[in-house]
Amino acid sequence: MVLEIAAVGGYGEVGRNMTAVRCNGEVVILDCGIHLPNYVKLTDEETGDVIKFDEKILRKAGAIPDDRSIESWWGEVKAIIPSHAHLDHIGAIPYVEHKYNAPIIATPFAAAVLKTICQNERIKLRNQVRTLLPNSSLRLTQNITVEFIHVTHSTPQCVLIVIHTPDGIVCYGNDFKLDNSPTLGRKPNYESLEALGTKNVAALILEDLYANDPRKMPSEGIAKDMLQDVLLGVNSTGKALVVTTFSSHIARLKAIADMGKKLNRKVLFFGRSLAKYAFAAEDAGIAYFSKDGVKIATYGRQVYQTFKEVEANRDKYMLVMTGHQGEPKAMMFRVLQNQFAFKLKQGDHVVFSCNVIPADINKKNRAELERQLRAVGCRIFTDIHVSGHCAREDLRDVISFIKPKHLIPCHGDKPKQEAFTSLAEEMGYSTKAKTLHVLNEGDRVTVN
Ligand SMILES: [Zn+2]
Ligand SMILES: [Zn+2]
Repeated sequence: MVLEIAAVGGYGEVGRNMTAVRCNGEVVILDCGIHLPNYVKLTDEETGDVIKFDEKILRKAGAIPDDRSIESWWGEVKAIIPSHAHLDHIGAIPYVEHKYNAPIIATPFAAAVLKTICQNERIKLRNQVRTLLPNSSLRLTQNITVEFIHVTHSTPQCVLIVIHTPDGIVCYGNDFKLDNSPTLGRKPNYESLEALGTKNVAALILEDLYANDPRKMPSEGIAKDMLQDVLLGVNSTGKALVVTTFSSHIARLKAIADMGKKLNRKVLFFGRSLAKYAFAAEDAGIAYFSKDGVKIATYGRQVYQTFKEVEANRDKYMLVMTGHQGEPKAMMFRVLQNQFAFKLKQGDHVVFSCNVIPADINKKNRAELERQLRAVGCRIFTDIHVSGHCAREDLRDVISFIKPKHLIPCHGDKPKQEAFTSLAEEMGYSTKAKTLHVLNEGDRVTVN
């Protein structure tokens, strides 16, 4: 029998990840995400709500994967399995799942985030959501077993997915890093990763996003040290203190909140996406922001009122808000537009605990945001950040652990695919020998 892999989305492009694995008339779908820039274009300027969430419109805009390429497989799908809670892996599920009759299998955190997305968009899922903990397995059908191996990433409960079939094993590692000093949760499960190396794995689908970064990616512990240096090491007495980071980065948010406490500042989270992930973390039992004294201001009046309290005692708070990429609709810009009682002033500290995601729109937005922050005299601290992805030497380790027969890069555009190819060739794989398969959206390959 044959083991087939279909590259549905996120191959040769960054975003809307979706892969299908087929064995003996049974299919599992791995990830089903949105293409964030294309998705944002369709959202309401004011509220961030999707105003047109029709599947056809989203597909036409390139915001969700085009699963018509596997139309003949639709009736065979047995499960939809997101690897983690990032929107480029999970965000299209509410728009796509209705055409499949298959459970969604996710870690508790990813399931909690999915639930919130559905509530916000007022979508009722056709299929049941089942949770599976990292480092556990589930017998999906007589022939297919799904295994979740715990790995580290910039959002909690991220897993490397292993699909066991009678015709071979397929591993799917899309978004993770090998962090030996994570600040929340455990190290990657090296034991299970290395055990795969003895099992004749047929194929490894592996992210190539940082294949051109020649390092071993530094730990989240390093990011925490950098934060500490800026938040605790630079005197902010008497000044307002604003921090912005990725809303889904619970470990980072927790470090920020802990440092706010040390500074004797009350920690406040502003913005809907921060609330979404913070509450999902509480739901999944990963972090307890509210219990730890963080106030989460989500909607209209609550936000206005909280900003009023801040303005009266500017140096008694640490303000965590959305807008790290300079998004025009996020909190940071709204503060600069004087929409609230609180205003940024000369000497206030603004800490960017993030990188600028390399897209033209982000570079432009961030440059404008920083210009406006400087214009009011803020001190800006940028790039207090370490990525959550495998760099080249991590990828080399992962491939050495798992020793797959076939190697398939995903998540990157052409330059990333090329960087991955050069690494794969160093390790003895090649397109000529048909052990390395550089796929584009819509392609299929047989791997046994
Ligand atoms: Zn991703
Ligand atoms: Zn991710």
